[in-house]
Amino acid sequence: GEWLGMLGGGQLGRMAVHAAQALGYRVAVLDPDRHSPAGAAADEHLQAGYDDAGALTQLASRCAAASTEFENVPAAALSRLAQDIDVAPAAIAVAVCQDRAAEKAHFQKAGVPCAPHAVLRGAADCAGVDPALLPGILKTARMGYDGKGQRRVNDAAELAAAFAELGGVTCVLEQRLPLAAELSVIVSRGVDGQMVTLPVQRNWHVNGILATTAVPAQGIAAELQAQAQQFAQSLAAEFGYVGVLCVEFFVLEDGRLLANEMAPRPHNSGHYSIDACSHSQFELQVRAMAQLPLPEPRLHSACVMLNLLGDLWFDAQGHRREPNWAAVLRLEGMHLHLYGKADPRPGRKMGHLTVTAPTAWEARGQALAAARVLGLPEDGLV
Ligand code: ATP
Ligand code: MG
Ligand code: MG
Repeated sequence: GEWLGMLGGGQLGRMAVHAAQALGYRVAVLDPDRHSPAGAAADEHLQAGYDDAGALTQLASRCAAASTEFENVPAAALSRLAQDIDVAPAAIAVAVCQDRAAEKAHFQKAGVPCAPHAVLRGAADCAGVDPALLPGILKTARMGYDGKGQRRVNDAAELAAAFAELGGVTCVLEQRLPLAAELSVIVSRGVDGQMVTLPVQRNWHVNGILATTAVPAQGIAAELQAQAQQFAQSLAAEFGYVGVLCVEFFVLEDGRLLANEMAPRPHNSGHYSIDACSHSQFELQVRAMAQLPLPEPRLHSACVMLNLLGDLWFDAQGHRREPNWAAVLRLEGMHLHLYGKADPRPGRKMGHLTVTAPTAWEARGQALAAARVLGLPEDGLV
């Protein structure tokens, strides 16, 4: 069969490899890590850096199309591949998603509201900042994830100190907003401009890391959900995006919907689609990159997804242990996904558990039972 290429060897790449292989493709993964989750699942693992000219040439000569699963893949690597093969998403769109300042500008261009903010490029910008943005959250413009590279600041003095602490790099200061809920939307767009979206996800974070996703998004008005899907489509269309894009949203206490950030790839909050939807976010990614028709995904089960972080692999004394999977799998509606990572660390994404049920109420009840067996946070479940 034909070959597809994947830049990045993490769990997102691994699940994309599985989806591509189910459709009859062979997949080459480029990742420097010898033990990468996607590399192990791939038909070929090119073990080299993303800027390795030889590896990129090899990928381009073998594959019909390529995509990325790694948010910070150098845009130059995508541009290099695009000289010879189809690349989805394009380097330019990935570059926008890698830079919070460019991302905020994109929101504004597409007419999608976002948090009041300022781009800070130096100490002088900090001193001149609009006091209405405080208390705020200072975020590095590039490279942050899972809440890393962020500081809460209450006043001008804390802002100056936090800016220095983050290394004096370009940052975005956002007003700290009263959040009622967090949502995300996965949209897939084809080269012909056709777009499909997954149902809206409701998300709960613990310590800056996604802990729980529930679909359908209970407690969120249908019109607001439709608005989020519409915003996600506008953002994808605005840069002629091809592939899977995830947009995170805030619902404020006054009911307003604001875009938070985008990821130019499948997203942790979309993992539920493997077990609860007719078509997963990974199948949508593969279909978009291979220029196959995009199906309108249908939610066939209510569900709750629980992230399995490395913390679970340690007891209270800090000793290594294996979580009691048998005790969880005994419960109804459990779909366990482990990414094949050998070395658990606190905060590291090791797998996820999707709980499916006929109704949202039952899914939540079963997810709570699973969370109690494993000792997971109960955010969004009680
Ligand atoms: P991810 O792992 O999703 O990429 P990230 O490190 O890029 O995370 P953000 O999504 O910007 O970070 O923020 C992480 C979390 O912090 C948000 O999901 C939200 O809970 C909280 N947060 C971020 N910005 C704001 C804000 N302006 N006001 C209030 N809470 C916020
Ligand atoms: Mg982010
Ligand atoms: Mg985020």
